[in-house]
Amino acid sequence: RDFFLLKRYESSAAESSASPSPPPERFEYQAEVSRLMDLIVNSLYSNKEVFLRELISNASDALDKLRFLGVTEPGLLKDAVDFDIRIQADKDNGIITITDTGIGMTRQELVDCLGTIAQSGTAKFLKALKDSKDAGGDNNLIGQFGVGFYSAFLVSDRVVVSTKSPKSDKQYVWEGEANASSYTISEEIDPEKLIPRGTRLTLYLKRDDKGFAHPERIQKLVKNYSQFVSFPIYTWQEKG
Ligand code: ADP
Ligand code: MG
Repeated sequence: RDFFLLKRYESSAAESSASPSPPPERFEYQAEVSRLMDLIVNSLYSNKEVFLRELISNASDALDKLRFLGVTEPGLLKDAVDFDIRIQADKDNGIITITDTGIGMTRQELVDCLGTIAQSGTAKFLKALKDSKDAGGDNNLIGQFGVGFYSAFLVSDRVVVSTKSPKSDKQYVWEGEANASSYTISEEIDPEKLIPRGTRLTLYLKRDDKGFAHPERIQKLVKNYSQFVSFPIYTWQEKG
């Protein structure tokens, strides 16, 4: 494991001296995503804590996908890493990180999954919203349908997704901000942030939502909303 990390460090250092990594590339959200983001960011929805359930459910899905694909393609599991979910709460800085060792995303998958609405739950949400004659009806709909990944913006100003798919040599970083119509994707070049596989989400919480970054709060939410997740969920506190 140490050897693996060391090797990645060397190879990325060698690559960067030979050819500097390309600058972040900027992408516009699909129109529906922009609409959804607007709703989420400006909503007065009070049950914001559902963000954790949504993000843990994505982590769990990603682990399920890897477990399933690993049966027919054992090469995907070549990094002997446990299947788990780790949540770190940094209360001093108001930051939450959620790390899974699941299937991760390639660069193209980042564009397809976190810039468009291909996924069924969110599409249903938008349809229900359209059908609801009461324009203020979104408050209940957010809770009813769950808004998936974008629910991170219920509590965050900025979200960074660093992800490594076993199908790709490289790790990529998706970065988005509340109230922005575009996001960026770049290569992960910080050797300390490289992961063997899976996804790490970093949530930079809004000023009024920094209270979520407490280990006790996280533990309570995990107990309430995610008790049936079939992978271990570790939570811990940053040492001061
Ligand atoms: P849904 O889970 O209903 O598909 P989401 O908005 O929650 O919708 O997520 C969108 C997509 O982004 C997922 O289908 C998945 O492909 C991808 N995704 C989100 N989180 C992760 C993750 N932790 N690991 C791998 N892929 C992810
Ligand atoms: Mg989801």
